[in-house]
Amino acid sequence: MGYKIAVVGATGNVGREMLNTLAERNFPADEIFALASSKSIGRTVSYGDDNDLSVLDSATFDFSKVDLALFSAGGEAAKKLAPKAAEAGCVVIDNSSYWRMEPGVPLVVPEVNGAALSGYAKKNIIANPNCSTIQMVMALKPLQDIAPIKRIVVSTYQSVSGAGRAAMDELFNQTKGIYVNDLPKKEEFTKQIAFNVIPHIDTFMDDGATREEWKMAVETRKIMAPAEISVHATCVRVPVFVGHGEAVNIEFDGPVSVEDARKAMKAFPGVSVVDYRQDEGYVTPQEVQGEDNVFVSRVRKDPTVENGLSLWCVGDNLRKGAALNAVQIAEMLVAEYLPKK
Ligand code: NAP
Repeated sequence: MGYKIAVVGATGNVGREMLNTLAERNFPADEIFALASSKSIGRTVSYGDDNDLSVLDSATFDFSKVDLALFSAGGEAAKKLAPKAAEAGCVVIDNSSYWRMEPGVPLVVPEVNGAALSGYAKKNIIANPNCSTIQMVMALKPLQDIAPIKRIVVSTYQSVSGAGRAAMDELFNQTKGIYVNDLPKKEEFTKQIAFNVIPHIDTFMDDGATREEWKMAVETRKIMAPAEISVHATCVRVPVFVGHGEAVNIEFDGPVSVEDARKAMKAFPGVSVVDYRQDEGYVTPQEVQGEDNVFVSRVRKDPTVENGLSLWCVGDNLRKGAALNAVQIAEMLVAEYLPKK
């Protein structure tokens, strides 16, 4: 006996990675339903090496048939379908930004604030944080445990897979097209992404920040509460297919040595430190595709503030930044909260 699971958005980047992750980690699933929009009915998606699942329409699916629903279908679907699924008695883990800041909805990175999961039954909805936030708080939590963090200044280098399947196609087609003098078509990004970088992710807000930058600030505070960390982010899209990089500058309340910081991060589950001050002594996004851990490199003192450190971290945005984190939440629910099957 095992649990019955629905993956909503199963044809997308994150949904397919969720199915891979569930299979790879031998999640105790009895039955898996792959759901997407009505336009994908009849398609199949793979689950593990030997199983093809027929895609069903999420709009007409009876969520009372499942114990858990892993959503990665965007904000609109999350708004409409997550409460319906939750009311039908299944626990929703949602990857969109729609529920993240809602009171009563835990926003969880299991290694960082797994205890927050205890409040899940208020709404039966749990939110998965933004991919850039997840990888940053993984590096910050062991440091916060040494000395309180006051302020973060972070610049992100975010891959196109963070914007979905169509965005990956756009980078591929523009790159190919430029070599044969085709005019680049812009649909998913407002400027050409091939051979370029774009300092604009999600919509602009009144104060000049983008919503992606705002998400990094408010989500970090919710996850790291009761710590009150100020975050100033600049989020940039780069022409990389998978893997986000982040340059993080941290100001602490007390002194933290480079050695202590490296030691604490090394000991933290889900974080690897690869930090040699030489050629190739650091990790790049291209090397972390398919990896579960967040990798930290370039740890160094910031001598321009009293207690400052800078570091570089990279992670696979589709794994720890999305699918893996959601599956880890599901594993924790099953281990600690749901009736045993
Ligand atoms: P994607 O590749 O564009 O896939 C979107 C998925 O959502 C497809 O399966 C699509 O189904 C499905 N969908 C769209 N509208 C739907 C509806 N009304 N009902 C059911 N399914 C619907 O996007 P993605 O990168 O997987 O991202 C999905 C969600 O995860 C987004 O909310 C995104 O913000 C979030 N997220 C992504 C990342 C990342 O790194 N990619 C990280 C964290 C969070 P069809 O094929 O039928 O259209």
